Amino acid sequence: MTRARMASILRTDGEYRVLPSDSSLTAMLDKNVQTKQVGTEKVEVGDGERVRNVVYAIDERIIQDREDLAYTRPYSSMTASEKRRAVRCPECAQMRLIKDQWSSCLVCLRRVDKETALSQDR
Ligand SMILES: [Zn+2]
Repeated sequence: MTRARMASILRTDGEYRVLPSDSSLTAMLDKNVQTKQVGTEKVEVGDGERVRNVVYAIDERIIQDREDLAYTRPYSSMTASEKRRAVRCPECAQMRLIKDQWSSCLVCLRRVDKETALSQDR
């Protein structure tokens, strides 16, 4: 999904008091570990002119279940009660919700899986 498509969904389907600007939406999509860039798409911008927009998708290595969203959410997007329960991940030093039995946050746990998979490929 492109940033423009995301913005239009937020406008039409969401009930938000404040909508993010284009640049903050870009920053959110670029920096969020929950999403990844999967390519580009040519988009008409009027007068037959076309520009390339980055296409984003949920990073399925990290997000495998709806529940995973809460455990990978950046601190700035957490609700007040999530912020109270958040702890600092010993590996990446990010504030996250971490289950008691986990040694690090879900992002780090799944990243390790990914690196292991990569080294097995070689
Ligand atoms: Zn971590």
